[in-house]
Amino acid sequence: LEVNVAPYYGQSWEKRGVIIALHNITKLKHLEGVRRDFVANVSHELKTPVTSVRGFAETILQNEMPKETEREFIQIIYDESDRLNTIISDLLNLSKIEKNDLQLNIEKIDLVKLIHKTAKPLLKAFSDKKLTLNLPNKGRSIELFADKDRIAQILVNLLSNAVNYTPEGGMVSVKVREKKNRIVFSVKDTGIGIPQSSIDRLFERFYRVDTARARNEGGTGLGLAIVKHLVDLHGGTITVDSVENEYTEFTVDLPAER
Ligand code: ADP
Repeated sequence: LEVNVAPYYGQSWEKRGVIIALHNITKLKHLEGVRRDFVANVSHELKTPVTSVRGFAETILQNEMPKETEREFIQIIYDESDRLNTIISDLLNLSKIEKNDLQLNIEKIDLVKLIHKTAKPLLKAFSDKKLTLNLPNKGRSIELFADKDRIAQILVNLLSNAVNYTPEGGMVSVKVREKKNRIVFSVKDTGIGIPQSSIDRLFERFYRVDTARARNEGGTGLGLAIVKHLVDLHGGTITVDSVENEYTEFTVDLPAER
């Protein structure tokens, strides 16, 4: 609570009393805290790869080494720069969405077709990890009015998480169904799952259940925050159901029409 006190005068400047103003600044303080955490998180996330790039470049510059070792170090520098790139484009994306700069381009889309098209570039990642991917039957057609690129982004983020957090030999299934005026799709994996205590925080920027592991998987901790915003923008909802070491299922429920 913020308290302001000021004297209160009458017409001939005689003192009449005091005015006490009480402002509830809980929300403001909270926002300030969120902003401060965000800046700290961003700095930390960027600093890690930058430190690595700098360290390896310095080592190459200051030491004689076999060509092979040098190439190995340059590869690390390349990969870390790539990671920086991903973090920065995720951040830009998120800030665009949060500033409401994002205009949805609503059109009629065939969701089953879109799912197949979106999954295509990820197929190699699935087969590298010996994961089975089940997609809805191509013969079906499920139509909805939505922003094609944004729905594709939601799918990519959910599918990449499914790949990242499912051990070799597992299974990932995408399902679609029509409900009255709604279209529901889900991505379910047989992966490591999410502890119940983390479910509430999952859609926060930079939140990760296991920071070290997520970073190893190449995650930025922004994927689900972006997904949540995009689902909200479409007037939909997203829910998670998970049992640790058994499965995780994300379900997106969207209005079929605008
Ligand atoms: P990241 O880039 O770290 O994957 P996300 O925002 O996409 O960030 O996800 C946040 C965290 O939620 C992840 O770090 C991971 O701990 C957890 N998570 C997301 N998807 C899954 C999943 N399918 N199975 C298990 N854990 C998941």
